[in-house]
Amino acid sequence: MTARQSNYLRTAFVDEAAIRHNVSVFRQMLGVPHIFAVVKANGYGHGAVIASRAALAGGVDALAVADIDEALELREAGIDAPILCWIHAKNADFGAAIEARLDIGVSRPDQLDAIAAAASVLGQPALIQLKVETGLSRNGLAPTDWSDVFARAAQLEQAGTIEVRGIFSHLSNTSVEDDQAAAAKFRDAVSQLASFGVEPPLIHLASSGPAAKHADLRFTAARLGIGIYGLSPSHELDAAEIGLRPAMTLQAEVVAVRNVAAGVGVSYDYTYRPERDTSLALLAIGYGDGVPRAISNTGVEVVIRGRRYPIVGRVAMDQIIVDLGATETDVVAGDQAILFGDAHRGEPTVAEWADAAGTINYEIITRIGPRVKRVGVEG
Ligand SMILES: *Cc1c(COP(=O)(O)O)cnc(C)c1O
Repeated sequence: MTARQSNYLRTAFVDEAAIRHNVSVFRQMLGVPHIFAVVKANGYGHGAVIASRAALAGGVDALAVADIDEALELREAGIDAPILCWIHAKNADFGAAIEARLDIGVSRPDQLDAIAAAASVLGQPALIQLKVETGLSRNGLAPTDWSDVFARAAQLEQAGTIEVRGIFSHLSNTSVEDDQAAAAKFRDAVSQLASFGVEPPLIHLASSGPAAKHADLRFTAARLGIGIYGLSPSHELDAAEIGLRPAMTLQAEVVAVRNVAAGVGVSYDYTYRPERDTSLALLAIGYGDGVPRAISNTGVEVVIRGRRYPIVGRVAMDQIIVDLGATETDVVAGDQAILFGDAHRGEPTVAEWADAAGTINYEIITRIGPRVKRVGVEG
């Protein structure tokens, strides 16, 4: 419950030791040869470079992001581990992806053609991973395209134009039965691919939740996002119970403290009026930084000087107000408030925010905005 010093108005402290620890928890639990740390969307809001470096130090052997630009940013930061990316624009720059030695996910037949053409121009083999559709109805090769695309991939690999590094899909997490049905389709894709003589080292289906839950769906690799940040992939799995530690602590500075009389209106629309004379602390963070407006007046608390106080009134774009509960207070401008952190330290959690806002923890951390300074810390 002790806030860290910070010279910034808004700080997300990212505990690199926690990320390394979470990776090691998964490595021991899963026992798969390969783990991808999923660092898309700015490392789930933690800072993609900070998260990537910590996850690699913790023992993952590869990274994964959604698109080529995200992957190139990591390369520019000097990260040379394998990076998988799987969502591409029609005119995506596959040449840049090949030159950066990215693992390019292939979700449509025309993407394989475009990648092969770019590889031929460069005279450098493209690293690809085949993404197959197994139930989500999203991104992936349709089963009706499998045999054609697999045959073509085998041919291109023979010719040295591409190297098929992997095959993968993603689960809906709807029910055990639905996940098993998707896994059966996935196994079918893997064996169809093998029938063309292509047996890639990276065979992966599970993200954090399924990897933890289904021992039989781990294949040779897992793609771990939320779990390495120390948060629960669903209500079925408690991150703390399996030994994970939340990596992010969000803080904001108290920029003003004022005494007010009982009954005054607080923030837009005066949705809160204190029942007694009190003092209010103003924090320099708002929905522009990812504090959901939906948590207004839900009882979500912050910690200042080791004590909890409720956020009151409307969350504004740049500001929130907390009720300090009395006119006498030791809270002063310049104090740091903890908005969420680790329940084990008695701090409010991302889960509490998600419940109050009617969303999931993924959305809370991913939407922490660019004005919030990410600072890597140890412990
Ligand atoms: C985001 C994502 C993941 C990571 O999922 P978590 O639940 O955060 O572990 C894995 N695979 C794909 C395809 C994804 O889009």
